Amino acid sequence: MELRKDPITRSWVVTGHREQAAAPTEVCPLCAASIPRDKVLLRLPGDGPTQVTVFPHFDPLYRIEGELGRSAEGLYDKMRAVGAHEIIVETPEHTRKLTEMRDEEIERVTQAYGARIADLKKDPRFKYVTVFKNFGPLSGEDWTHSNSQLIATTFVPRRILYELRAARQFFQEKDRCVFCDIVRQEMKQGVRVVDTQGDYVAFCPYASRVPFEVWVMARKHNHLFETPRPGANRRNLAALLGRTLRRLQQVSVAYHMVVHTAPSVLQTKGELSDYWRTIADDYHWHFEILPIVETRSKSYSIKEVYFNTMLPEEAADRLRRLDPNP
Ligand SMILES: [Zn+2]
Ligand SMILES: [Zn+2]
Ligand SMILES: [Zn+2]
Repeated sequence: MELRKDPITRSWVVTGHREQAAAPTEVCPLCAASIPRDKVLLRLPGDGPTQVTVFPHFDPLYRIEGELGRSAEGLYDKMRAVGAHEIIVETPEHTRKLTEMRDEEIERVTQAYGARIADLKKDPRFKYVTVFKNFGPLSGEDWTHSNSQLIATTFVPRRILYELRAARQFFQEKDRCVFCDIVRQEMKQGVRVVDTQGDYVAFCPYASRVPFEVWVMARKHNHLFETPRPGANRRNLAALLGRTLRRLQQVSVAYHMVVHTAPSVLQTKGELSDYWRTIADDYHWHFEILPIVETRSKSYSIKEVYFNTMLPEEAADRLRRLDPNP
């Protein structure tokens, strides 16, 4: 297993990872009895027993040990697939979904995201930490037991690089954060806003890639998801996330959710050196939720461009009308 860099697009590709076909067992590997106790990285207590448990993935895409082994093959670059791949078990209850959890429970899940991101960012080998959740069989979820996953990589994923570049450029020209500007315009126009709570807003982005795409973010500027602003009320974020996902589950059986936060500030060299100087002012964390509505989506056949059959204004209108607590 190794990482290869496409010299044209500069994106890294994990090559040679064959998923071990999980032997069908009656025992759920995410239920408390199966979790390897000596490997637990984080536990967050609930009202009674532990609610959230984090431990290393059984079949990781990236391995935590070792040096990067960056090397060249002619004009090509490659390195070892070093990184971290963790499973965040959101609840000890086997059938309980994130949408069924109380706000404080959802908040605990997001606390676990933040705590693990902050911890992995201390490792100087890692440039980026991604937290994501695949929900529903169509999303490629690994287990039905409610979970999220975290991946720390020695490179910045391509989509994040695009965002960093665009955010820095916008800031250089206007001295403002592009995400803050987007939020201000969306709040003013209102047509794509799905819901708000406290300092947080959920809206369908202007150029939504799929029907019912929703971003959830803070209305006040902050580049680091894992470090809330002083006085930030993350219970409000949890409540808004819960309501948004409960709306989405009425139009879609599956979704991908990903947290985008700024890369590690330890990275002041290499490909990030141009970014870190203004990153605290120009980047802004956000959740991107991409429902899987169409099973035969055109974006599969013509992958370079997204084809979205639904206007985000219409998507936001439909989502607003749905009961957030069905
Ligand atoms: Zn289970
Ligand atoms: Zn901002
Ligand atoms: Zn993003």
